Amino acid sequence: MTSSPPPQHRAPLMSLDDALASVLAHALPLHATETVATFDADGRVLAQDLVSALQVPPNDNSSMDGYALRAADVTEAGKVLPVTQRIAAGHASEPLEPGTCARIFTGAPMPAGADAVVMQEDTIEVGGNIHGVHIQAVPQAGQWVRRAGEDVTRGAVVLSKGERLSPASLGLAASLGLAHLSVVARPRVALFSTGDELVMPGEVAPEAMRPGAIYNSNRFFLRALLRRMGCEVSDLGIVPDRREATLAALKTAADHHDLILTSGGVSVGEEDHIKPAVQQLGSLDLWQIAMKPGKPFAYGTVQRDAGAGPAAAESCHFIGLPGNPVSSFVTFLLLVRPFLLRLQGVETKALKTTTLPAHFTLNKAEKRREFLRVRRNAAGGLDLFPNQSSGVLTSAVWADGLVDNPAGNTIAPGDPVSFISFSDLIA
Ligand code: AMP
Ligand code: MG
Repeated sequence: MTSSPPPQHRAPLMSLDDALASVLAHALPLHATETVATFDADGRVLAQDLVSALQVPPNDNSSMDGYALRAADVTEAGKVLPVTQRIAAGHASEPLEPGTCARIFTGAPMPAGADAVVMQEDTIEVGGNIHGVHIQAVPQAGQWVRRAGEDVTRGAVVLSKGERLSPASLGLAASLGLAHLSVVARPRVALFSTGDELVMPGEVAPEAMRPGAIYNSNRFFLRALLRRMGCEVSDLGIVPDRREATLAALKTAADHHDLILTSGGVSVGEEDHIKPAVQQLGSLDLWQIAMKPGKPFAYGTVQRDAGAGPAAAESCHFIGLPGNPVSSFVTFLLLVRPFLLRLQGVETKALKTTTLPAHFTLNKAEKRREFLRVRRNAAGGLDLFPNQSSGVLTSAVWADGLVDNPAGNTIAPGDPVSFISFSDLIA
């Protein structure tokens, strides 16, 4: 008598929203901070509010090259005023006598008493024994004057703790006189790929690849994505599909990292060693997420050695991404990215979506919520990459975003669909 195979216990699929809420619930913000030069702070997350000790700009100043005057002195076009001083940017000014004007340049401080600037294009210089100008346009009080503090007032919180610094925010911090900023420490992420079929580019030439071998592509985009998220990445390379090797890699990584991120091996096949190995060293939840691409996904923890130091948390986060490249890519963007933002204390916002018309047809209704690789076209609609297989990385390069298509939904040309731009997902 032959024994029948054990029944397949299929866990019910989990919704992406539940998976995200669950991952985020584990992502307690890291406490470590460091001080970095403002020059080097692009992409970092502020560890404290930036409060301005001064006002920006510090004084009223001209936003034009022209003449500073009292608007009330010129009630009709063609009036001639004597020029009594010349004020360049970075130089002090004298109070302005009524009935006179000052030659002034962009960024130069307004002289006391003046309340408007007439741009030089609206004036004609008058020679002779007095140096004067014809004012050809009647000025309004306040015109071409930048007010002291119009950008930043003293005491204002200019940038808040938890904000991710952009190039513009570095400029703003510098305008407050800040040469250094306190930022959240970079999350330390150990990255490894699993799979005996994987070969590193550069190690074996394309023509010498053994049958069944493929190049490790996930390692390249995952490392780059992590870096863009501000992480310090330890790349542990390819871990063979063996329990001992997987255990050893996890153990080494846990002590000195905040997160271990792997790709591949999270299905429940015999060659998928991640699950038992993480379970042996900590805990693991393996989810089947109702999304396409990207069904298998794992979150867990790996215990640290006592030697990891008294201040170290007892365990390191573990996230296992699916091996299929597009699945790995999309689950990183939709799950790992918000996780890493939360670790860094950044408030996670709902995904930004835009409603755009589909310029394609999707006939087959999927049981899972699908993230289609699409591209905006010149006609304001979206084109679909023809091959939506989770192994086809070309789709992710060709596309400039994803359509978030609900389960069971078919799409006809002209249908409004929900578009998520890669530029909002890839920092
Ligand atoms: P797995 O999740 O390990 O079952 O892998 C699923 C599919 O993704 C298989 O076809 C693997 O060969 C492929 N794959 C896994 N890891 C990688 C990787 N790092 N780069 C490219 N393809 C991969
Ligand atoms: Mg594998």
